[in-house]
Amino acid sequence: MSEVALSCRSVRKSFVTGNGPVLALDNLNVDLLADTFTAIVGPSGCGKSTLLHIIAGLDSDYLGELEWHTDNSRIGYLFQQPRLLPWMNIAQNVAFVLEPRGHSRSEATETAMQYLKLVGLEGFEQSYPTQLSGGMQQRAAMARALAMEPEVMLMDEPLGSLDELTARRMRAELLRLFEDRPRTVLFITHNVTEAAFLADQVIVMSGRPGRVTAQIPVDLPKPRDYDDPRIAAIAHEIVRNLHLDE
Ligand code: ADP
Ligand code: MG
Repeated sequence: MSEVALSCRSVRKSFVTGNGPVLALDNLNVDLLADTFTAIVGPSGCGKSTLLHIIAGLDSDYLGELEWHTDNSRIGYLFQQPRLLPWMNIAQNVAFVLEPRGHSRSEATETAMQYLKLVGLEGFEQSYPTQLSGGMQQRAAMARALAMEPEVMLMDEPLGSLDELTARRMRAELLRLFEDRPRTVLFITHNVTEAAFLADQVIVMSGRPGRVTAQIPVDLPKPRDYDDPRIAAIAHEIVRNLHLDE
């Protein structure tokens, strides 16, 4: 059993809007295990991105406690949108986050090339973001987040904009990457099969205000087969816990 890397206790978050307060998260309790891949699945608008913002330290306006038991000074964050800098080519977009971390320019470029290759963008290093499709931009953003080799990696629906064939390849790469070098990962997805395929544990959230309705371990050996009936069975269990018919 892995150690707890982060405990979220009784997290409650409301937004003030023109139509009054919106309660996004209410009494949310989550444990992230160290060096473990945790997927979060929940209906749209249930507060998943809000939770990621809070964990990343981008939003401190909430109630409840976050207790870190691991080094959280290096958190990688992959947003739903790629957020690349348009005036840099994609190799520069990846390399520029490495130089302030003590890499020389040539080391940073070499590392950038490795990670761009990993996400299938070999040959596009000199392209600018606007010259690439949305899915390619998202893969470049993933290379940038992975290249920082953060201890804690937060990923917000990173494969949602990819075509299914590319997404399958990326899922297999991610599984292999985190198997080779385990990290504490929190991965949001609305794809239940993707969650079952990638994760060591799946957290299912209710509709807004988001709470945890189930925590499902995935004890299948890796590498995994996306079409394995055991993955489908876990995906089915996730769906049952989403209570879509209520
Ligand atoms: P999810 O990522 O699960 O789709 P979000 O965390 O983005 O959901 O949003 C949860 C709820 O909080 C939604 O009802 C959304 O409209 C609301 N919300 C999110 N951000 C803001 C904001 N900045 N201001 C007001 N309401 C917000
Ligand atoms: Mg979201």
